[in-house]
Amino acid sequence: MAYIITDPCIDTKDSACVDVCPVDCIHPRKDEPEFATARMLYIHPEECIDCGACVPACPVAAIYDGPESTPASQRDLIDANSIYRAGEPPAVAAAEAIVAKHASAHADLMKVPAAERAAAHAK
Ligand code: SF4
Ligand code: SF4
Repeated sequence: MAYIITDPCIDTKDSACVDVCPVDCIHPRKDEPEFATARMLYIHPEECIDCGACVPACPVAAIYDGPESTPASQRDLIDANSIYRAGEPPAVAAAEAIVAKHASAHADLMKVPAAERAAAHAK
């Protein structure tokens, strides 16, 4: 099962994970038109090979190694990762809508600095 990007990526979005992913399954990349407006990045669930390289690369610990290890507060973002498809506007919009709803529903988490947000997931 694929790795999952969660909400510390919101406000960070530095693409460090993209640079280390061997199969280019994390989008949007900086050279894709959606990058400017995307609130976070997403992992394609069928293309991810579960190598784990992205986890230590992420400066804010936003990436979990599968749905089972994704904290309850972040589970809505599993669908966002699943739905997002670069270059497909309806899929991009649907994923971004989930992220917007997540941010509204977790205003408390969004107030935590991105670098400390993963530590707050389990609380
Ligand atoms: S686990 Fe590996 S293949 Fe999957 S997104 Fe991370 S770096 Fe890419
Ligand atoms: S390394 Fe982490 S914060 Fe940076 S883009 Fe990837 S998931 Fe987002």
